[in-house]
Amino acid sequence: MIEVEHLSVGYDADGREQSALHDVSLTVPQGTVCAVIGPSGCGKSTLMKVVAGLIRKFQGTVRIDGCPVNPQEMKIGFMPQNYGLLPWKTVGENIYLGCRIKGEESADLEARGQALCQRLGIAGLEKRFPHELSGGQQQRVGLARAFLLRPDILLMDEPFSALDAITREEMQEVFLDLWQENHITTMLVTHYVEEALYLGQQIALMSAHPGSVQEVMDNPLAGSAEERHKPEFFAMGQRLREKIREMGAEA
Ligand code: ADP
Ligand code: MG
Repeated sequence: MIEVEHLSVGYDADGREQSALHDVSLTVPQGTVCAVIGPSGCGKSTLMKVVAGLIRKFQGTVRIDGCPVNPQEMKIGFMPQNYGLLPWKTVGENIYLGCRIKGEESADLEARGQALCQRLGIAGLEKRFPHELSGGQQQRVGLARAFLLRPDILLMDEPFSALDAITREEMQEVFLDLWQENHITTMLVTHYVEEALYLGQQIALMSAHPGSVQEVMDNPLAGSAEERHKPEFFAMGQRLREKIREMGAEA
């Protein structure tokens, strides 16, 4: 479970502190996906970095399974906005990187890695470098790395944004397919209403100036490919858009 309570974060801008997040509270129950949606600059990435333990200067509390965030002790799967692949390492090295850092040496690691690559359609690309892959393939490598680690929580910052619409839908399916296996507690940032509806059992709506969570909606439509093309889905999308518009944002 991820618990964020009264979180405020400021950045130092030219000697003055500028508020990036103000009094954000959000709970992601164990084994669920929370989609975080909001306009550019409202602090979505900042929120992810705090939960990932990368930003340590903040007010409020952030707990993972009841404990303060500790990236050394916890297994946090973090996919930053640009996938976070190291350009000087091969695809294979990138995939095993998280596990290597954690000293994970289970006997089946290699086999699991290969199975994941097969499943993600990136088998045979292990010796290439990230720049020799398409955006969609890099995305798959990022997913392989995150899921191979079998993290306690998964944080994904606009994971499918750089992809064309068709590839994006494919990757959403791939993500759900992998996610179904262990139901990793996940926070996923998106600026696509449909993506939030398809993937998030909860949808947190954020607004800017200063960044805050305005509303958290339960979303019964999440996870079902059949629902995705039904009128209810579009109606809910419209409602979500209206809410976002009311908050003075665009999506
Ligand atoms: P989002 O991901 O929703 O687009 P960010 O979390 O990246 O928003 O940024 C929130 C606000 O904080 C923005 O106004 C941004 O300019 C500012 N900001 C982000 N990172 C830094 C930083 N390292 N230093 C100063 N300001 C930052
Ligand atoms: Mg961002």
